[in-house]
Amino acid sequence: MMMDTAGLSAEHCVELLDTREVSCRELVSAYLDRIDRDDDRVHAFLRTRRELALAEADGFDRDGRTGLQGVPIALKDILCTKGEETTAGSRILEGHVPIYDGGCVTRVKAAGLVSLGKTNMDEFAMGSSTENSAFGVTHNPWDPDRVPGGSSGGSSAAVAAGFAPLALGTDTGGSIRQPAALCGVVGMKPTYGAVSRYGLIAFASSLDQIGPFAHTVRDCALLLQVICGKDECDATSVELPEPIVVPEAQDLRGVRLGVPTGLLEQGIEPGVRESFDAGIRSAKGLGADVVEVALPHAGYALPAYYLIAPAEASANLSRFDGVRYGLRREEAGDTIVDMYGRTRAEGFGAEVKRRIMLGTYALSAGYYDAYYGMAQKVRTRIREDFQAAFGDCDLIAMPTSPTVAFRIGERVDDPWAMYASDVLTVPVNLAGLPGISIPCGLSEGLPVGLQLVGPAFAENRILVAAHALEQALGFDPRPAATAEAQA
Ligand code: GLN
Repeated sequence: MMMDTAGLSAEHCVELLDTREVSCRELVSAYLDRIDRDDDRVHAFLRTRRELALAEADGFDRDGRTGLQGVPIALKDILCTKGEETTAGSRILEGHVPIYDGGCVTRVKAAGLVSLGKTNMDEFAMGSSTENSAFGVTHNPWDPDRVPGGSSGGSSAAVAAGFAPLALGTDTGGSIRQPAALCGVVGMKPTYGAVSRYGLIAFASSLDQIGPFAHTVRDCALLLQVICGKDECDATSVELPEPIVVPEAQDLRGVRLGVPTGLLEQGIEPGVRESFDAGIRSAKGLGADVVEVALPHAGYALPAYYLIAPAEASANLSRFDGVRYGLRREEAGDTIVDMYGRTRAEGFGAEVKRRIMLGTYALSAGYYDAYYGMAQKVRTRIREDFQAAFGDCDLIAMPTSPTVAFRIGERVDDPWAMYASDVLTVPVNLAGLPGISIPCGLSEGLPVGLQLVGPAFAENRILVAAHALEQALGFDPRPAATAEAQA
């Protein structure tokens, strides 16, 4: 009988391996078989690595194992993997095989986690739906007609569909928390600097962070223990002031939870609002002290983000020139400038080109102060807003996304509607803060995410509260089981 991986946590995997109820090979095979059976419908993975994964599993079965060794993981295809293709969802990097592992990937391997493969994503992590991938869309396991969110939609869908108990994604403006919310899984963006960005293909370097997806908050903590810490190859990375602790708390007594009411007036779907309010009532039931907080400049976060992120992207993406990486397009008689143009015209998708143009414009001599400079000032105000708010509360709670998963195709022709998905997540990136999204219920049969944001390096505070709340909410992470129960 095929082992049922739906909703299986990494902790549970460890238990099955520790008690030898299953071997590493059996565990890894169960996930790979599930991918083979169902990923045609989901398209979470761009590539799997069956033979390599099974060989690693056999090694642990032969030589013995401890900790997370032998537990499967899925990696977003923006993390460089030595000897294994890494495309960032872009045609321009098709066939690109890195000659080194990213810092995070090195740690994941050292911990003995077994990579099952690379997951689909919006091209260069630009998007909120995974529809901007050059390699096809990913479908939400809760409803195949809907997006899984993005840009790490392949990773969130992989966990939701039972293809992997753990996954890594990246979050520049919400790309871990928003797809986690839309797929009914837990996703966390650590404090800027907590995780090395070495070997992460850069989108907006002052915002990008790698983080975990899992079914439970405790699993996220286990994976954070693996990936956090200083890396000599990323000068912005730091050692956490205190090690990540796997949370056990069952209540929220003494926790002051701030709700930024002003921010919640705008464009939040009624079903999302209801589910969020129910989550806040549960938090109160657990003893949290709920207070109102103000983030007066958070309403300007979206325009500031959509200047700063494209500005940084326009510089970062200038390296894709047809000479050093991936695709090269050239015709007889082309000058090198013709070749650059042809390669970039064919290699980049529409959204990436839009960002490069927006960013180049925002950084150009005559407009720099009015756009990029102004956006940086707004960024400072937003950071100060959070600092002030954390004088009155320990954690801030918000919905993660203003809506549940939207239909595939619905927003592709309306960039501003797509960007609006990020209204509640980008302020957190601009301030460099840690944030988690946990599933807090369903609206019209689709998952709703609740976001908890903390001060810089308060990962443990977030994990403790999110774990207590998760226990009280008792969300069933299995899309099919939920569909059956509702039928
Ligand atoms: N949706 C946002 C964007 O398109 C965030 C993406 C991200 O976090 N990588 O830029």
